[in-house]
Amino acid sequence: KDINLELHKKEQKMGQLHIVLLPIMAHGHMIPVLDMAKLFISRGVKTTIISTPPFSHPIIKAQESGHDIGLSILKFPPEGSSLPENIATLDQVPSPDLIPKFFEALALLQKPVEKILQELHPNCLISDMCLPWTTDSANKFGIPRLVFHGTSCFAICASEQMDLHKPYKNVSSDSEPFVIPNLPHRFIFTRPQVSPFELHEEENDFTKLMQQMKEAEEKNYGVVINSFYEIESDYADFFKNVMGRKSWHIGPLLLCNKGGVEEKSHRGKESEIDQHECLSWLDSKKPDSVVYACFGSQAAFTQAQLHETAAGLEASGQDFIWVVQKGKNEDNWLPEGFEDRTKGKGLLIRGWAPQVMILDHPSVGAFVTHCGWNSTLEGICAGVPMVAWPTFAEQFYNEKLVTEVLGIGVSVGNKKWQRVGSEGVERAAVKTAVERIMVGETAAEMRRRAMSYKEMARKAVEEGGSSYNCLNDLIHELSVYEHPKKQDIN
Ligand code: UDP
Repeated sequence: KDINLELHKKEQKMGQLHIVLLPIMAHGHMIPVLDMAKLFISRGVKTTIISTPPFSHPIIKAQESGHDIGLSILKFPPEGSSLPENIATLDQVPSPDLIPKFFEALALLQKPVEKILQELHPNCLISDMCLPWTTDSANKFGIPRLVFHGTSCFAICASEQMDLHKPYKNVSSDSEPFVIPNLPHRFIFTRPQVSPFELHEEENDFTKLMQQMKEAEEKNYGVVINSFYEIESDYADFFKNVMGRKSWHIGPLLLCNKGGVEEKSHRGKESEIDQHECLSWLDSKKPDSVVYACFGSQAAFTQAQLHETAAGLEASGQDFIWVVQKGKNEDNWLPEGFEDRTKGKGLLIRGWAPQVMILDHPSVGAFVTHCGWNSTLEGICAGVPMVAWPTFAEQFYNEKLVTEVLGIGVSVGNKKWQRVGSEGVERAAVKTAVERIMVGETAAEMRRRAMSYKEMARKAVEEGGSSYNCLNDLIHELSVYEHPKKQDIN
């Protein structure tokens, strides 16, 4: 209460606090940033998102439904970029060799972003971890830069300890396990589960970017985390006390969406399936009887893997909704007669699904997820246990949080980090994991635990909750912030 009063006085003196948010052009990064904007606005902070088409569309929709979010639009790909004009988002990058060009294009945004900052005069910039140059930009304008990783504090800690200690160097084969040292828990990994960038197998533009991100990280004001203290308290403390870094857990950001079905069903993109059709399908099912399988916006499986997944889901005998993104995944992979045999039992969505709306439906009993952080958090907020099927990025770390720390999931047993062409999980593994999460006493126990985390998440964002208070602290700190050496860009 004192903090609120002080903050209010300060605001009256200084005018309204203004925060600019700068995500990268990927759904898993943009969706939580839009939620973050809604949250700041609900607490009286002026907020502007710098975005690009097509991501400006969901922001405009949010504005139309009453969220007073500012929007500054950038062209992407920017002038001077060698990225093809038709690639506006990360999931549209057709082949791995174009990924470096995508990140090069991000670096070319520096000038246009600085022009916007000059016009807006914000008090703070919260930008994506993939934009290390924003540290310098913020510095030029005498404002703090906060980093948004978009992942769990747990994954940030695990990844940094992996990088620091390089435990994979002490094993002589890909099958020999090793432990990441120094963390509050003991996690066993094998080399193929670690990204090639973390293994430093090759030096390329992406590893250079990672190095720049690391250097920028040390100079930043702190880190804003879309998570809540209770779910990863050991790691929030570790981040602060052992790694010596500042962070604010202000999530789950998705819980700032108090709206009904509309807000839950339009996140990121227009859904492929009519929301009412999807809801009436779910309404026809018993509570906790449906398995929802979806692997985010980026994961790309081989044809063989899609075939095995279909066969495994069918063999599990459970009702299911399975989402397969268009374009990322090849066609003609369904087992012969699959759709006929699973008619009424299974719903296949080819394209974008209204994920949060589905997860929140009482008929959904489990979530087969790639452990992208947004999906993981959405599963936690819905109180559903999970089958962890990580494929790339930091997903193998999040898998450990879900299965070993929180005890709300089982692993499907994927052994290999693979950005494109992920494969190797057989139908028997899919069937077993789905059965383990849906049937029996252990499954019931995991479901009870998942429900208790759902409750904790809800409380964290309510007045007096951990994330609520953390956001108060952040707003207060930013409103009294004075830059050590304020420079004018002119
Ligand atoms: N998502 C969705 N429908 C889909 C696929 C994904 O709404 O068909 C949303 C999902 O709810 C989450 C985001 O897209 O908010 C994906 O982010 P995540 O971090 O889970 O994975 P990524 O796509 O970054 O791998």
